[in-house]
Amino acid sequence: MGRFPTIGVLALQGDVREHLTALEAAGARAIGVRRPSELDAVDGLVIPGGESTTMSRLLQVFDLLEPLRARLKAGLPAYGSCAGMILLASQVLDTRPDAEHLDALDITVRRNAFGRQVDSFEADLTVAGVEGGPVRAVFIRAPWVEEVGSDVEVLATVPEGPAAGRVVAVRQGAVMATSFHPEVTGDLRVHRLFVDTVRSGSLRAE
Ligand code: GLN
Repeated sequence: MGRFPTIGVLALQGDVREHLTALEAAGARAIGVRRPSELDAVDGLVIPGGESTTMSRLLQVFDLLEPLRARLKAGLPAYGSCAGMILLASQVLDTRPDAEHLDALDITVRRNAFGRQVDSFEADLTVAGVEGGPVRAVFIRAPWVEEVGSDVEVLATVPEGPAAGRVVAVRQGAVMATSFHPEVTGDLRVHRLFVDTVRSGSLRAE
């Protein structure tokens, strides 16, 4: 792998291009993943924002659901943003009964949790593991995390307002998730944190 890990972006739906650009800028080789053979080629995977129920359906249509479950179970580092957080969760509230998720993070998330009036908003968040001051976080019909398992580290909570204290960034080993979209602000620090996670995970395995 060398200094540049290959990181895939699940490219079925959602804001794929922004993540590819951010990953390249953060020091990875980035590729879109739409086929099992592409999944086989990556050292880590980003699941972008979009619509989690649609992505769940497309994972089945593209024969990626079981291969992805298997790779995550085997320790594939992953980072999910917004809908990606929902897909990585072990339990999802307010979703469709037929929606699949991947069980890679021991968290319960609620979809569209911030309510309709506040569909989209921004906040400055302190994110554990991210140095250099707060991260400008953009939330778009975002989920929040209602419960975390004992192995899950909370990386960030909403600092103020009606949702103060809600958990919006987590990590469990090499799997990370944020309710917000770091790929739209040009701030690469969250992507760098994931690229470093992928790099050190593979070093351990070598
Ligand atoms: N509300 C979307 C969902 O449930 C997530 C929105 C997003 O990814 N920006 O999947």
